[in-house]
Amino acid sequence: MKELLNLNSKTWELYEDAKNELKDVFEHIDEVCEYNSLKVMNAFYENRVSESHFNATTGYGYNDDGRDTIEKVFASIFRSESALVRNQFISGSHALAKTLFGLLRPGDTLLSITGLPYDTLHEVIGIEENPSSLKSFGISYEQIDLKDNDFDYEKIKEYFDSHTAKVVEIQRSRGYSRRKSVSLDKCEKVIHLIKECSPNTIIMVDNCYCEFVTKKEPSEVGADIVVGSLIKNLGGGIASNGGYVVGKKELVDLVAESLNLPGEGKDVGPSLGANKSLLQGIFFAPSVVASALKTSVLASFMLEKLGYKVDPRPYEERVDIVETIEFGNSEDFITYCEGIQEGSPIDSFVKPIPTDMPGYKDQVIMAAGAFTQGSSIELSCDGPLREPYLAFEQGGLTYDTAKIGVLKAVNKIIERDLQ
Ligand SMILES: *Cc1c(COP(=O)(O)O)cnc(C)c1O
Repeated sequence: MKELLNLNSKTWELYEDAKNELKDVFEHIDEVCEYNSLKVMNAFYENRVSESHFNATTGYGYNDDGRDTIEKVFASIFRSESALVRNQFISGSHALAKTLFGLLRPGDTLLSITGLPYDTLHEVIGIEENPSSLKSFGISYEQIDLKDNDFDYEKIKEYFDSHTAKVVEIQRSRGYSRRKSVSLDKCEKVIHLIKECSPNTIIMVDNCYCEFVTKKEPSEVGADIVVGSLIKNLGGGIASNGGYVVGKKELVDLVAESLNLPGEGKDVGPSLGANKSLLQGIFFAPSVVASALKTSVLASFMLEKLGYKVDPRPYEERVDIVETIEFGNSEDFITYCEGIQEGSPIDSFVKPIPTDMPGYKDQVIMAAGAFTQGSSIELSCDGPLREPYLAFEQGGLTYDTAKIGVLKAVNKIIERDLQ
């Protein structure tokens, strides 16, 4: 491999070290993968998945047995009453937007207890002006920030002493921020607290990037409704698009009526041939998530050895598949992204260049050579070109292919420094 990839000795030594030192971490990842694979297989057995479920419906999509079975499989995996798993959801952002519009009514309040929500939700909520936002329909938004990377339990308790909220949003993964991602233990604790203060408040979890990273999902620790993307973990790199919503039946039904139309919630929605890829996606997902995790751990180990600040650190417990690397200068950041791009299966010959992007004040660089557009369960690395030059790296469909990306990227930085 050293010769085929033309790696210098320092990169190779770092990689050999990583292989020895990370054995226990990888073993733990494999153990979680084994458990989640069992979860998936049991869901397939229980719901008698069969070849006929690959069939497509068109038009209204009535009686789509495959689609309905996929939803039962997701509900089993999440130990929840109901699920909505649709290719009519463009991606996770759309599923989140439809969930919020489905649950909230004029006069209601949405409360985020993990600080500022993910970027694509700002216009949905009305944090940034948009004539179609929740705010434009008279829905208020309140926010309680995290405190020392944990929930601000005191502030939350105080809030419910004098206010109410129809929906509380918990975003587990950090998004494009510097905070830590939130573990399920912490979620469980805060959910108990809120349920005590305000039993009727709906707890919604944005679960993007966190599925199958640990053995439990938020619906197993009291969340009422859980939302995520199918171009991330649970699509397994196979689903071409889509999103999922799982949780209490009455809530999932409201989201279905918001996605489709009142009176025709879950009953309509043609699968148009997506069923087989959604089933294959969830089948592969535990193993793909394990590969993505190993890729992040490898990058974390090698880049920390090179002196960069990484988060999470190589041996730290993980909540999601994202690795952040603080490059401290634009040159290292860009060089690393070029290496990731060179190591991608698609568009390996392309050079990523920082450019202006809608919604960002600074230029953004994005390295991604993916089979599915925007799919960040595939190896990708991106971030805004500003202090402290923080890169967000995630994904890797197979560890053996994704690690080539990391090795090329690390090698590129070392080579440049040697010159
Ligand atoms: C990626 C992400 C989303 C949006 O999902 P898309 O599929 O990219 O639309 C929402 N929330 C979080 C925390 C995310 O990481």
